[in-house]
Amino acid sequence: MDIEFVTVGTELLLGFTHDTNAAVFARTLAPVGARVVRRATVADNPDSIRAAVGEALSRTGFAVVSGGLGPTTDDITRESVAEELGLELRVDQTVLSDIEARFARFRRGPMPESNRKQAQVPEGAEVLANAFGTAPGLWIATDRGTVVLLPGVPREFKALTEEHLVPRLAALADSETVMVSRTLRTTGVSESLLADNLGEHLLAINDVEVAFLPSLEGVDIRLTATGAHDFVARALDAAEMALRPILGHQLYGMNEDDLAALVLGELRARGARLAVAESCTGGLIAARLTEVPGSSDVFTGGVVTYANEAKIHRLGIDPDELARAGAVSDEVARAMVQGVVDRFDANAGIAVTGIAGPAGGSDEKPVGTVYLACTWDGTIESVKRHIPGTRHEVRRRTVQAALDLLRRML
Ligand code: AMP
Ligand code: MG
Repeated sequence: MDIEFVTVGTELLLGFTHDTNAAVFARTLAPVGARVVRRATVADNPDSIRAAVGEALSRTGFAVVSGGLGPTTDDITRESVAEELGLELRVDQTVLSDIEARFARFRRGPMPESNRKQAQVPEGAEVLANAFGTAPGLWIATDRGTVVLLPGVPREFKALTEEHLVPRLAALADSETVMVSRTLRTTGVSESLLADNLGEHLLAINDVEVAFLPSLEGVDIRLTATGAHDFVARALDAAEMALRPILGHQLYGMNEDDLAALVLGELRARGARLAVAESCTGGLIAARLTEVPGSSDVFTGGVVTYANEAKIHRLGIDPDELARAGAVSDEVARAMVQGVVDRFDANAGIAVTGIAGPAGGSDEKPVGTVYLACTWDGTIESVKRHIPGTRHEVRRRTVQAALDLLRRML
């Protein structure tokens, strides 16, 4: 089943908003056998919207449109598509009372008049209920094909795609052929080294496409198989089983797994309390940890000790050692982690000190030199790493490397 995907929004064309909906859509629908074969992005302009939808229908007979369903005058997707299809728009009383009820429940005061247009439904269209916002989706079946309109707000878009489009398209596609991906997440090893290590083992993998996807979190190995459900599951299982032993501890998780969440899970299982001391990451490690729901039962807190005085006064680093070894040193990283677990009454800790750049590097300690120290249950492990990239990249990669050091210790 082939689908064309149209995103509407001048902000997307201007580059102020990333088109994440297109990626979410394609990723969500591929496993049920619906394939996005073309994508278009157009401005909030009636002629552009009409042309994009009309062309998509003439090619595949199935267009999914995201965006432009808001209450304001710049959002005109509903009107433009109705016009293109020659359908009249009528206010649907059920949708209207749903929107009014939403205002009564979540907001102060009555529904503003401008929301009224979100209750307009083209004749013959089906309403796809939206639990997260005021604009419902619309499923419009015509003799030129099917047009589905979805709100652009990412959370609403994703919810409607999963709730309404997945089951409907799975039924329509009625396909024996699906495309399924599985991701093996690695960190602490470069893309090229990983490819070398996997070498001939990759050649032995059948029926599965392998892609290496490097990012600031590490290198993801994405396995993709196409075919019947059973065939795909067997091929992916076989490929995963072939790669796991070679990856060993470089493999930290699968699919959407988050390293911070995994580390917290390991610590939780041990009843541990975690504290962090950060210099060059400036709080990013604490932010990554607290991004994870439920982190409070493991993560107790930490300090950002950027200046030498802060390292001395907040963590009890010996000023003489600091002067001798330098703030970016193995000695200081180890003293930082000991200092923070002592002060936060924790039994697990992470400390980082490094040179994020672009200035501050030297021949001996170039930009990207980072010392990491972790402790668990009385043992401290530390490493020196040379982390490549810009300031932004060095800081993010340092967070991942520090979490990974603790993971490996655990
Ligand atoms: P709209 O439905 O056009 O009113 O869009 C509402 C908001 O959703 C916009 O202000 C954007 O921030 C966001 N948005 C719209 N389209 C997309 C898209 N394709 N990907 C990600 N965000 C989007
Ligand atoms: Mg818009």
